[in-house]
Amino acid sequence: MVICTFAAMTKVYLKKKISRRVESGHPWIFANEVGLVDGEVNGGDTVEVFTHDKKFIGRGYINPKSQILVRLLTRDRGEVIDEGFFMNRLRQAWEYRQRIGYTENCRLVFGEADDLPALIIDKFNEYFVIQTLALGMDRWKPAIVAALQELFQPKGVYERNDVPVRELEGLSQVKGFLSAPFDTRIVIQENGIRMEVDLENGQKTGYFLDQHDNRRAIRHIVKGADVLGAFCYTGSFETHAGYYGARSVLGLDISEAAVAQARRNAELNGLGPVCRYEAVNAFDVLKAWSKEGRLFDVVMLDPPAFTKSRETIQKAITGYKEINLRGMKLVRRGGFLVTSSCTNLVSPELFLDTIQLAAKDARRRLRQVTFAAQASDHPIIEGWENTNYLKFLIVQVM
Ligand code: SAH
Repeated sequence: MVICTFAAMTKVYLKKKISRRVESGHPWIFANEVGLVDGEVNGGDTVEVFTHDKKFIGRGYINPKSQILVRLLTRDRGEVIDEGFFMNRLRQAWEYRQRIGYTENCRLVFGEADDLPALIIDKFNEYFVIQTLALGMDRWKPAIVAALQELFQPKGVYERNDVPVRELEGLSQVKGFLSAPFDTRIVIQENGIRMEVDLENGQKTGYFLDQHDNRRAIRHIVKGADVLGAFCYTGSFETHAGYYGARSVLGLDISEAAVAQARRNAELNGLGPVCRYEAVNAFDVLKAWSKEGRLFDVVMLDPPAFTKSRETIQKAITGYKEINLRGMKLVRRGGFLVTSSCTNLVSPELFLDTIQLAAKDARRRLRQVTFAAQASDHPIIEGWENTNYLKFLIVQVM
């Protein structure tokens, strides 16, 4: 990369051979894809990106500290990046969610898929949680909050930027109020149940909205069933199971705080006697119980991501095979396994193959009931790998 510093407005010229990713419309431009930068490079500033022969590609923000040198915000030459730009993008994001049926809670902005790279906004009815995961987006935080104020007049806006990935951008990890302070323990409604969400201390943005649609998918199979839910967090699937008529539900999570919250959520829905929770290491418990021959009608697994790097992908697959094998053994014949993976690098095909390998080792035959991705407020863009990350599978275990 050659850097010239004479021009006032910074222009980034790509190398002659453009990556398939950039061609497909993906907004990331890596430093090694850039041939020449004409102008000053100030982290967070808006720059213009061109092909090697000076054809306009788009406008985005630059960060020389990051491997992703530029993230494009627009490919429209007439679109200026200012406060109004963020207002428009947020309005479009909300209109889209409303069109596909969301009313109270949703992922309002899903980063790249909403043409707002590195921005996440979760809407919990009248409360909003935001994450700005790159320097250029972090700079626009005041404009983003102003747009939220204008569009929604929220009861509260909270920042959950306590995320390690920000350090790759030279940003520190922070969390706190972006509005007047408010009680960060809120109650949301989902599919007819009530869940208390701790916006300040919960995992990620406080609640996993990405499984919102999938939680409804367990409705029929849990009726009258003895259900085990491993990696239950605050008991979202488990509370649903109780609400949909399970006979008993046992949820397991390693986090004491999550389990305490899950118990409160059971109470909140009058399911205290049905939904029970234990703070344990699920890997150990699944192993021990499958050896003991304990049986449930439905076993649900929703572990955290096993890897974020390609180097350890094989280990992650071994991990999925192991827990699913244990999970299947705990299912009474004719019962159901409900299993998820949020590891970005494990493709849907690879996940299905892994489950089949587990079934073979467990000497069980599977019938697929449902195979889905994340809820539709997290849109998938074909070819943009990191937008298609959640795998959700229900199988009958024969
Ligand atoms: N099903 C949940 C989300 C689960 S997130 C929902 O829909 O809301 C993954 C959970 O796994 C986290 O709550 C984390 O605390 C838990 N976890 C991580 N390692 C674990 C382990 N070894 N044993 C049990 N739980 C674990």
